[in-house]
Amino acid sequence: PREVQLKSRPVGWPTHDDFALVESAPVDLADGQVRVRNEVMSVDPYMRGRMSDAKSYAEPYALGEAMHGGAVGVVTESRADGVAVGDHVLHGFGWREEAVVDGSAVRVVDTAVAPASAYLGVLGMTGLTAYAGLTRVAGLKEGDVVFVSGAAGAVGSVVGQVAKALGASRVIGSAGSDEKVRHLIDDLGFDAAFNYKDGRVSDLLREAAPDGIDVYFDNVGGDHLEAAIGSLRLGGRIAICGAISVYNNTEAAPGPRNLARLIQTRGTITGFLVGDHWDLAGEYAQRAAGWMADGSLTSRETFNDGIDHAVDAFLGVLRGENVGKMLVRL
Ligand code: NDP
Repeated sequence: PREVQLKSRPVGWPTHDDFALVESAPVDLADGQVRVRNEVMSVDPYMRGRMSDAKSYAEPYALGEAMHGGAVGVVTESRADGVAVGDHVLHGFGWREEAVVDGSAVRVVDTAVAPASAYLGVLGMTGLTAYAGLTRVAGLKEGDVVFVSGAAGAVGSVVGQVAKALGASRVIGSAGSDEKVRHLIDDLGFDAAFNYKDGRVSDLLREAAPDGIDVYFDNVGGDHLEAAIGSLRLGGRIAICGAISVYNNTEAAPGPRNLARLIQTRGTITGFLVGDHWDLAGEYAQRAAGWMADGSLTSRETFNDGIDHAVDAFLGVLRGENVGKMLVRL
């Protein structure tokens, strides 16, 4: 089996030279461990942060070792109680075709209920990020006007649909291509959407939300954040989920120039990490199942095939080559 190792810490945009595809050494199972043949793995923007050694909430990937990330696979050998050969399990040892994992660090998932990939996307960490950010961090209320950036991506597409399901009066999304904008309106039920490459984000947002916004779910940072502050209504809430527009910057990006608007609007900006909100996972799973059953929550996925295309998939998510969740089928 093969694995993808980090060879060097990228400066600015990562390139293929920063990674190595390597044949992994055979490992015997210890007591309590399982062997998993990975079927699908996640590539996520947050992984860019783990490739640097700057101090952050997640530990940096070690050089010369396989990287980590969400994956689902089938158990081929088990020395752990409660996990049987043939079970599908969710775990944190992606970026490799085969994983040897402690039985206590895997979760058995039911692929009869949803395909394996869903546990990495709409029913997994990205879905919960959307739900926790909207409900708990932004305090979404019925009638709110909601704006979300990165709207055609994994988190953003769930944000828009869940906001509608929870009674938002108007949902506006931004994305990086006309095709994505059409997808937001035609397939995901957004009320308005724009391509942020078409002009100044502040102008495009004002056009899409002439009366302002109550909630901004920020996936990208930069100009989008400044535009959202500029359109915020009285008591508006901004949840900072990500800042993908600056992840590959080598110099600090300028901050929003209009923070003083928060005074007159009594607005708030709150950053959050999904890891602090696992207590909502059960509630979300139940509601998401209902929304998926009645059609108010749909999910798209973009697949790349083979571990030899995992780096392409990762670079692709940073460039916006995905609609919905970006995944690698192994
Ligand atoms: P996405 O599926 O949204 O993929 C990233 C998207 O970002 C791309 O598809 C691209 O779409 C967009 N993008 C890339 N560069 C830019 C740019 N310069 N300006 C605007 N958009 C850009 O990824 P996820 O859904 O997995 O993650 C979304 C955000 O949420 C990320 O910032 C991530 O770090 C964050 N996150 C945070 C978590 C937390 O706990 N706080 C947990 C999970 C994710 P386009 O074509 O539209 O440009």
